[in-house]
Amino acid sequence: MLDWSIRLFRVFGIRLEMHISFLILPAYFGVAGMEKAGLKGVWWSLLFLVVIFACVVLHELGHSLTARRFGIKTSRILLMPIGGLAQFESMPDTPGKEALVTLAGPSVNFALFFALIPVTGPFSLERLVDLPLTIPQLVYMTMAFNLIMGVFNLLPVFPMDGGRLMRAVLSFWLPALRATEISSKFGVFAAACLAAFFLIGLNNLLLAALFLFIMLASRMELKAMKQRELFQSFHVRDFVDTRMENLRPESSIRDALGVLNQMSPRDLIITEYGRAVGLVELDELNKARKANGESTSSHLLAGIMQRSFVTLQANDTMEDALRLAASDKQSVFPVYDYVQLVGVLDAEGLDRRAYWKKAEKELD
Ligand SMILES: [Zn+2]
Repeated sequence: MLDWSIRLFRVFGIRLEMHISFLILPAYFGVAGMEKAGLKGVWWSLLFLVVIFACVVLHELGHSLTARRFGIKTSRILLMPIGGLAQFESMPDTPGKEALVTLAGPSVNFALFFALIPVTGPFSLERLVDLPLTIPQLVYMTMAFNLIMGVFNLLPVFPMDGGRLMRAVLSFWLPALRATEISSKFGVFAAACLAAFFLIGLNNLLLAALFLFIMLASRMELKAMKQRELFQSFHVRDFVDTRMENLRPESSIRDALGVLNQMSPRDLIITEYGRAVGLVELDELNKARKANGESTSSHLLAGIMQRSFVTLQANDTMEDALRLAASDKQSVFPVYDYVQLVGVLDAEGLDRRAYWKKAEKELD
């Protein structure tokens, strides 16, 4: 998928990027300001938007700078219409660290909230305005925004901070994967309740839609996180299939069909002198079978095999292997232990295999 983001500048050495969809906001704020107070309204609403997103960036910096203390780098902070996202190069390795990194974001908002109270006076619903048109109003709305953002982010819904925090806390007692499952299921449920509440209770379509969106994000996040956790402790060697198919470039299409009948069907690796020299996709094999009919025994695999493909090392982490499997169109990989060909990694159905391997590991 294309990454539609625009690079802005660096803060504390961290790249700040704006997703293209973020541009909806200045347009929306501009029009809303115009309707409210003409040209003056436009300027004030855009100024308010800048202040809001400065707070969002500070929140994300809270996460990033805390993570940096634990040696975790932030690849970028991405601004989107629904908020910011600090993307880390790796994940905290203990629940305690994860909880601290997570808490640091909302803490920034609460710190700003408390720091502004002496200037603005206490928070009250009556003093909220839809558009600040004076400096005191702007400062008041900034204080209110930070309170709302802090509380909002602590709602126990993935991928918001509250959901992550819940997971980190559960991980003190439960295996990581179980903690993710519980907190994510709870998050989907909570997001659905909140969506229904805003739609039916408050008739607020926009917030209801936001929570529906968060619910979807929550499920995607769960999937990604599950995969990461599943494969974290595994290497390619744990999944390698050492029963090689023993097909050579001079083997025929008929030979390949015979071999396929002895194993669960997958793309075939062609070897010569102990090295992988080709890869035959099942689709290609099927096409060749149909085209050649009776003469499959005289047609050679050399004619249909791909000669360039990616190989893996038995010591590679499964995370790397999965990244390759996702980006390349290749679904089987010859695996080498240094220079020796040791087998094949079939990327098909890995999730299920990893799940049971993990279950077995957890028994030990
Ligand atoms: Zn956050």
